[in-house]
Amino acid sequence: MKLTLVRGDITEQAVDAVVNAANSSLLGGGGVDGAIHRRGGPEILAECRKLRASRYGRGLPTGQAVATTAGRLPARWVIHTVGPVHSASEDRSELLASCYRESLRVAGTLEAASVAFPAISTGIFGWPMDDAARIAVETVRGSETSVEEVRFVLFDEAAYAAFGARL
Ligand code: ADP
Repeated sequence: MKLTLVRGDITEQAVDAVVNAANSSLLGGGGVDGAIHRRGGPEILAECRKLRASRYGRGLPTGQAVATTAGRLPARWVIHTVGPVHSASEDRSELLASCYRESLRVAGTLEAASVAFPAISTGIFGWPMDDAARIAVETVRGSETSVEEVRFVLFDEAAYAAFGARL
């Protein structure tokens, strides 16, 4: 598997699947989630609403992932995953690792060859960037997957440098 790093906007990535740092409601939020729904248009939210009404009445659990169409984004699918809120008192690393593993598993079921990830949990959910980068890179490297390219898309220079140091 090829691991690549770009500094940029996840909504502009022409890959098979982009991963959304969603919240468990699946009904939108800020950061990556807000950008994906804004740029992708209402089709994504309509599918998320259906998922809430069917499989995820109580919301998508932390660490799990589910796919929808990508609407007007230059990708084929959006894989929504819910990162853990960072905690100083409890080690939630396994849940963050699970986001990467489960997103790749879902990508595999879609036969996606290329997947773009943002730095899950490092925005509103407060995860320290260096530690998030370590977990992301280790987990993706350690995953058995049919995905051929994983692209980490980092919004700012600090995030790009943190991921670059782990690659
Ligand atoms: P979470 O709720 O999981 O913390 P956020 O969306 O708040 O997710 O932030 C995750 C990371 O994505 C942060 O580092 C943030 O700077 C970055 N980010 C925000 N918008 C975008 C975007 N459009 N493309 C890529 N990364 C983004």
